[in-house]
Parts: sequence; structure tokens; C-alpha cells
Amino acid sequence: MSAGSAVRLPTAAPGYEEGAAWVDGACVPSGEAKVSIVDTGFSRSDVTYDVVAVWGGAFFRLDDHLERFERSCAGLRMTLAHSREELAGILAELVRVAGLREAYVEVICTRGVSRGGVRDPRTFENRFFAYAVPYVWLLPVAEADTGMDAVVTRTVRRIPSESVDPTIKNFHWGDLTRGLYEAYDRGARYPILLDADGRVTEGAGYNVFALVDGRLLTPATGTLEGITRRVVLELAEQEGIPAAPADLPEAELRRGTELFATSTAGGVMPITSLDGEPVGDGRVGPLTRRLRERYWAAHEDPRHTTPVDYAGA
Ligand code: PLP
Repeated sequence: MSAGSAVRLPTAAPGYEEGAAWVDGACVPSGEAKVSIVDTGFSRSDVTYDVVAVWGGAFFRLDDHLERFERSCAGLRMTLAHSREELAGILAELVRVAGLREAYVEVICTRGVSRGGVRDPRTFENRFFAYAVPYVWLLPVAEADTGMDAVVTRTVRRIPSESVDPTIKNFHWGDLTRGLYEAYDRGARYPILLDADGRVTEGAGYNVFALVDGRLLTPATGTLEGITRRVVLELAEQEGIPAAPADLPEAELRRGTELFATSTAGGVMPITSLDGEPVGDGRVGPLTRRLRERYWAAHEDPRHTTPVDYAGA
């Protein structure tokens, strides 16, 4: 950039400073977006959703997120009223109206509202919502090098996959919320839940990785197939580090010399303490650091980014 040239930052349309939402086919300020009290997304957790980030004015891995969202809807036998292109257009409009260069953008599909009290879910008209708000950090940025204080929960296990399919992104957060409370009660903040067989699953909004005997492992089952997890597996492969989804028993997690969590809301986040004990030497490990740098660098790769047109259509 030449000296003296100015970057024109996007600005929010009046009233949209907190964010923008899409409800009933129209764009409204996020604070005014409402969902009916009788929508089963609200009353039954009969809903699926996805979250994609905008970073530096561009969506990151937008197609991956929309593809997963479409798969989640199909898995719940819901019908989306919009094509992939229409969804991308709606999301870009929300980000543009809210004037966000870094955003947390959520799409939601609910089963909808019963007609005349009929409970047969096949008769419901599924509903689509979306919103864009400022980017969310699961681990505060100021703590990026302090890392996460995690616990393996003792009082709660992950809802069995046979009951709620964790690969369909969902609002069945009863177990994860209990995990959060247990973590707080034990002086930490980030729960890691096991399945009924004592294998690691995931945490409250993040996947988990462990570096064990030089191999980077992440749970193969019982977990959302996170897009950040996918990116990290790709980056590890490029770095020549053996990495794979695998069974991760609790004992293996504890042998990890480096641990980290991944999420669209924060990227690669080091876990530096587990159950009050330091992981490794208690500092961010070299592999975690490298993957974190590579992760953010990937946000500038045009193959995986979709720029937002802030000038508007
Ligand atoms: N696991 C759960 C339960 C989540 O809710 C999330 C994200 O919200 C993740 C994992 C991470 O997924 P992603 O990397 O696609 O954001």
C-alpha cells in the first residue's frame, strides 16, 4: 500500500451497530430479531445450525460450513428454503449491513411451528434464520498465550451419539452446560467430556487434539466434525506431522505433551492445564503455536476465502 493511502473500513448501517439478522425473509438489527415462542426450535431444541467466520473482510471456508449445514438439515429431515448461492448472498448482506470485517455468522434452521396443534413433524414448515455479530473468541485474545484451563468432567458424560448425532450441529447443550458448571466449580473454565466408554469426545463448542508419541490425535467419534478440526488435520499433513481422527481414551489424553482445542470461534486454542496440572511444561507447545500461525495465515488463502462486497449489490 502506498504511503498516505487510506483503507476504507466498512461501517454499519444506522441501527445495525450490534449486528444484523435475517428473520422471515428480511434483514433486521440483531437486537430486534425474534423467534416465535411456539417454534419447536425454541420449545423442543428441534433445530440445527452452523457458524462461519468472517476474517479480514472475507468468509473463511464458507462452502464447507454451508455444505455441513445442508447435510445437518437433511439429517434431521428438514428442508431449507434457500439454495447454497442464496444462503451465501444473505450472509454477505448481513455482514455488509452490520459493517463487520471480523464476524461470527450463524445460520439456523428450525422444524418450525405446528399447524393447528398437529404434532407430526412432517407437516411443519421449516424456518430459516441467520445473524452476523462481531467475532466471538472462546478463549479471550489476551489469553492466547496463557491458554485454556481444562478439566475432564467427572459428573457428566456426553449425550450418546445413538441418541443425539453429534455430527449434526445442535442445541442439545444440557451436557455441555453441566460440564461448564463443573469446570467453574473446579476452578477452571473449559470442560472436556468423555463418552460412556471413557473416550474423549469434545467440549462446549470445541474439538480437542492431543499430541501423543509424536502423533496428533483427535476423537474420531462422538464429536462434531469441526471445520477448524478439518483445517488443522490438513495443515498437519502439509507440515508432515502424522495426524488422524482416532479413538482417544482419557489415559491417552493425559499422556499428551501438547493439547489444544479448535473452533470457528477462536481457531487453534492451546490447552495449558488439565485438571489443575500443567500440560507439558505448562506453556504453549511448539506444534500448537505453529498450527495456530498456519491457521490464521490460511485466512489469506484465496482458495478458502470468499470476500464480502461491502459496497453492496
Ligand atoms: N464441537 C462442538 C460441540 C461445537 O459446538 C463446535 C462449534 O461450535 C465445534 C466442536 C467446533 O466446530 P467448528 O470448528 O466447525 O467451529
